[in-house]
Amino acid sequence: IRQRFQGKTAIVTGAGSGIGKAAAIKLASEGAKVALFDLLNDRTRTTEHQINQIYRGVSRAFDVDISDPQRVEQAVNETVEAFGGIDIVFANAGINGTLAPVEEMSFEDWERTMRINLNGTFLTVKHTVPHLKQQGGGSIIITSSINGNDRFSGFGMTAYSTTKAGQVAFSKMAALELAKFKIRVNSICPGAIATNIDSSTEVSDELDEIVIPVEYPQGSQPLADGPGQPENVADLVAFLASDESKHITGARIVIDGAESLL
Ligand code: NAD
Repeated sequence: IRQRFQGKTAIVTGAGSGIGKAAAIKLASEGAKVALFDLLNDRTRTTEHQINQIYRGVSRAFDVDISDPQRVEQAVNETVEAFGGIDIVFANAGINGTLAPVEEMSFEDWERTMRINLNGTFLTVKHTVPHLKQQGGGSIIITSSINGNDRFSGFGMTAYSTTKAGQVAFSKMAALELAKFKIRVNSICPGAIATNIDSSTEVSDELDEIVIPVEYPQGSQPLADGPGQPENVADLVAFLASDESKHITGARIVIDGAESLL
C-alpha cells in the first residue's frame, strides 16, 4: 500500500466522530502518527483503539475543548513531546449549534457557535503554525461547509453559516501569510455527510414559526442516493495533506455530489 504519510505527524480535531474520525483513520492507514483532539469521550477512545489495534497505526487521544486557548496550546505541546513535530493539521471540529430565528437567538447561543467553530479554528492554527514552521512547511486543512458559501437554505442557521463563511476567509488570509514558510492552508466544503453532526443541533421552539418550504429538501445529492460518506471527505483531506497537492493553497474545495448545484 502507498504510505504517503510515513514519518509525518497529524493533529485532527473532532477525531471522535464523523469526518474527523474517518480522516484520522485514513492518515494513520498511510503511515501518519495521529493526535486525536476531541472532548474526551468513549468515541475518541474508540477511534484511538481502532487505529492502534486494528489498523496497526499510531494514535493518541487528547482531551481538548478546541475553544479553550490554554488547553489547545498545552495539547499541541503534548503532541510535539509525544510525536516529535507536527506536519499536518486538520482543523475540523465543529457544531451546528442553535437553530433559531435571528431575533430569538440568544447572545449566549450565538457566541457558543462562534467560540467553537471560529475561535476553535483560529486557536488550532495559531498554536500549530510555529511547529509547522519548525518542520520547514506543512499542510493545514479547515472544514467549512457548502452552507454559508454555496447554499443558503438552512433555516435558522445564521450563526453556523457565518462561522462557515468566516473559516473560508480565514483560510485564504492564512494561506497568503504562510506561503513563504511553505505552509499550505485550504478549506473544504462538504455537503450533507452521514455523521453525528445532528446531535450537535439545538432547535429553538421559535423555529417552527418559520415556514420551511418542503420543495427544498436538504441534503439530496445527484451523485449519490443519500448523503456523502465521511470516507469520501477523508480521501480529499489525505490529498490536501499530501505532496500531491503541493501547489494548492488558499483553495476552497466543494465536496458535495452536486448538492449545491440543485
Ligand atoms: P460529528 O458531530 O460527527 O463530529 C464532530 C466532532 O467534533 C465530535 O466528535 C465532537 O465531539 C467534536 N467537537 C465538538 N465540539 C468540540 C469542541 N469544543 N472541542 C473539541 N471537539 C469538539 O460531525 P461531522 O459532520 O463529522 O463534523 C465535522 C465538521 O464537518 C464540522 O466542522 C461540521 O461543521 C462540518 N460539516 C459537516 C457536514 C455534515 O453534513 N455532516 C457538512 C458540512 C460541514
